[in-house]
Amino acid sequence: MRALILSDIHANLDALEAVIAQAPAHDVVWNLGDVVGYGACPNEVIDHVRSWATINVRGNHDRACSGLIELKDFNLVAAFAARWTQDQLTEENLLWLRQLEAGPALPENFDASCSHGSLLDEDEYVVTTHDAWLPLHRSARRINFFGHTHLQGGFATSNSEWFQLQPEFASREGAEEYPLHLRAGARYLLNPGSVGQPRDKDWRAAFAIYDNAMNVVSFYRVPYDVQSAQSRIMQAGLPDRLALRLSEGR
Ligand code: ZN
Repeated sequence: MRALILSDIHANLDALEAVIAQAPAHDVVWNLGDVVGYGACPNEVIDHVRSWATINVRGNHDRACSGLIELKDFNLVAAFAARWTQDQLTEENLLWLRQLEAGPALPENFDASCSHGSLLDEDEYVVTTHDAWLPLHRSARRINFFGHTHLQGGFATSNSEWFQLQPEFASREGAEEYPLHLRAGARYLLNPGSVGQPRDKDWRAAFAIYDNAMNVVSFYRVPYDVQSAQSRIMQAGLPDRLALRLSEGR
């Protein structure tokens, strides 16, 4: 079976539509959270995700934009965007955001888990091998997907060996794929990257496909109409910074 794994869509409809159009065939879709916040199309993006995702875990922006947490830990721009988003949401979409489960979710038919932040704390950022060590050792599953950092790649361990994994792409243009062949006995913590607001200096929308029969996780980058996403943000009256960062990938 093949799972399409999406994280940190952040209400970027242009990026999400490009991913849907360009993603290879798959059987299920896993959403790792932060469907909304920052971008200008929260309802349209939720409508998409609700219609096809088989796993949905909540992100910190999903909680903030639906009033489940206070905005005191958010910076001014993120808090402004969260308030704006909450005002835009339909009642139905607001309720959908509020009922999302905290990770880790455990998909059927896969030796895998899905979280937003760390497996042990949904709000914790997993950036270094030090951050990855405990969650990876505590997880009951072998392949563990996470988001939150907006950085595509991850970590692997077999016995005492540790590896930090970062997909290598030839360019910053066009659609590209980077296959990671999973090693028998190794355990993985993998981030598909952010669909709607990448922060690894590559502006293209990021996602991953996990093929459990082939034992491969493929990382993808696909181009999208970033100018459209930027003008929607400007027209919505959201902070300019949220538009500008999209073309810089940070
Ligand atoms: Zn996020």
